[in-house]
Amino acid sequence: MQKLVIATSNPHKVDEISAVLGQLGVRCAPLGRTDIPEPVEDGATFEENARIKAVAYARALGAMVLADDSGLEVDALGGAPGVHSARYAGLGVTRAERDAANNARLLEELQGVPDSARAARFVCVLCIADASGVIHAETRGHFEGRIGHRPRGSNGFGYDPLLVLADGRTSAELTETEKNARSHRGEALRALSKLLR
Ligand code: IMP
Repeated sequence: MQKLVIATSNPHKVDEISAVLGQLGVRCAPLGRTDIPEPVEDGATFEENARIKAVAYARALGAMVLADDSGLEVDALGGAPGVHSARYAGLGVTRAERDAANNARLLEELQGVPDSARAARFVCVLCIADASGVIHAETRGHFEGRIGHRPRGSNGFGYDPLLVLADGRTSAELTETEKNARSHRGEALRALSKLLR
């Protein structure tokens, strides 16, 4: 496989995915089109939503497509926001506004919850589908930490400033290379790389 379209409008995901798959000689192309209707992500799991996106975009583009569905699971919230991570606090106008509102809501929900009960993880499911909608690969990765009490760091996106890792840094304080070496997306990408080889 030489070319994969990354079916996401999130430039951070494209960067993180391209950095790993590029090393395998896979050319990762961004979606680059806004005329394809966004599929409804109404699955109950990350796997279902990743499949919905991969199959819909692969058919629409007539190309091999990689979709990423990911999110944050917080134990004290029974796994929420989970598959609703992107829109936890509603639909902001810009991605940055949405991320800030999501982080604010998460901190509010966890008010009064002690560090010992703030365990959480990012989950990432990657799915590859071909132009006829056949799924060729699906992998999953996790990134464990706990939710901090205020955002820290300016790298990454989404809930990165709130996921505190074992070394005390947040995910938003890692470089892209460091994040990929440890993250849910990095783990799912390494499993995918093995399948692609
Ligand atoms: P999706 O684009 O529907 O898969 O939504 C993913 C959402 O989960 C994003 O909008 C973020 O809020 C969150 N998320 C997924 N991966 C990450 C990550 O690597 N860092 C921080 N937040 C993430």
